[in-house]
Amino acid sequence: MRYFPLFLDIAGKPVLLVGGGDIAARKYALLADAGAVVTVVSPLLKSELNAAFERGAITWRQREFRADDIDGQWLVIAATNDRGVNAAAADAAQAARIPCNVVDDRELSSFIMPAIIDRSPVQIAVSTGGTSPVLARLIRERLETLLDGSLGTLAAFTDRWRERIKARLGDHGARRRFMTWMLTGPVAAALRAGRDERAEQLTGKALEEAEVIPHGHVVLVGGGPGNAGLMTLQGLRALQEADVIVHDRLVSAEVLELARRDAARFDVGKFVGGGGATQEEINELLVEHARRGEYVVRLKGGDPFVFGRGGEEIDHLRRNGISFEVIPGITAAIAAGAYASVPLTDRRHAQAVRLLTGNSDEQLAQFNFSDLAAGRETLAFYMSVGRLVSLRDKLLASGVDAAMPLAFVENATRNEQRVIMSTVEHMHRDAVMQKVKAPTMLIIGNVAANAAELQWFGRQAVAG
Ligand code: SAH
Repeated sequence: MRYFPLFLDIAGKPVLLVGGGDIAARKYALLADAGAVVTVVSPLLKSELNAAFERGAITWRQREFRADDIDGQWLVIAATNDRGVNAAAADAAQAARIPCNVVDDRELSSFIMPAIIDRSPVQIAVSTGGTSPVLARLIRERLETLLDGSLGTLAAFTDRWRERIKARLGDHGARRRFMTWMLTGPVAAALRAGRDERAEQLTGKALEEAEVIPHGHVVLVGGGPGNAGLMTLQGLRALQEADVIVHDRLVSAEVLELARRDAARFDVGKFVGGGGATQEEINELLVEHARRGEYVVRLKGGDPFVFGRGGEEIDHLRRNGISFEVIPGITAAIAAGAYASVPLTDRRHAQAVRLLTGNSDEQLAQFNFSDLAAGRETLAFYMSVGRLVSLRDKLLASGVDAAMPLAFVENATRNEQRVIMSTVEHMHRDAVMQKVKAPTMLIIGNVAANAAELQWFGRQAVAG
């Protein structure tokens, strides 16, 4: 180990910053966050430091660095672009045994600064021992995505309860189990959802009973259209915490790949001989596992509330007294629009977009398509490749122009994506000819006219 890691309390302590430019300003921001009393030595101050000076936040010695500037300081940070000045500061600090960092100069530094992930009071510092600041930054970015903003709240919350827990639970093991329960169970979920009062109540009650009641939780997660990069950070976090994952057939392997390795997985699209589970069976599965105290992720393609039956599932969870949260996902219509260059509400061609399914004739019959006919609206059809004849006839009967453009977007956002351009009149013929299959979004309206020319992703669009 080349460097000794530590976290230094510099609140109220004098720190010397040598330099008045942009890099010095960035270091100042960190020092100020930690509550240091900062003195800056520099002939000039650039805007941010100058603003700090004007509001009285720093002391400014308006001149070149002198060796006696380090007197009484706890730390020195040199951030000028003159190596001679930086070296002079480092030498003076060294002689007085005051730790000194010279920005981007390992040789002159007696300490180096890590890349920081700040979820105060939780802090993670990443160092590559000065060998590769870029690598440190990349590692930091990875960690940033994994640790959501609730981490700090969570740490502060457990800290507030620590004394009470200690008083109530004498046994070390019992305390640890209780804390683990707080950090992973419904208390954590309540804090994430911004329900501090509920978190307080749950903790108080569990502590009173001096036992941890297994108390599961269900998270409905929108897995997006299949391209794993289109998951939300919240969704990723849930997947990595999951004890159990209940997913549909539509969820891509790439997304499942992101889940915790030892989570139990149920593919409810493949239940009972490939026919798929009934909604009742899925509801029961969620409740059963939550009752065992598990963290259950109900992972769906796209968004849970867009043709995803998320509404029925949360009704059922509520009836059974099981806590839940809902993390949205990018729904197929939005994803297909973006990845096939169909701007759904391009104001030159449409003022609205409607999400619908061509699932049944009775449902279709209830809709009015006059806005599409008038060229004011875009229609985004889910689950409709099997019903194109009825759909075409209904649209034509509603006065929609036979030449109205449309795009089939098969496997939107995935490597296999295909875009097939057609018109209302020829939609069925072209889909058959091109063997269009699910999952496919059908986007109808003038906004689809230029999709082939504007294409930026995947295979070239084919005209039907
Ligand atoms: N909840 C999902 C929709 C589920 S219904 C969502 O918000 O996206 C299933 C239908 O979604 C499919 O029949 C298809 O029409 C559409 N779909 C889902 N993923 C798709 C994808 N990657 N490409 C094209 N269509 C998709």
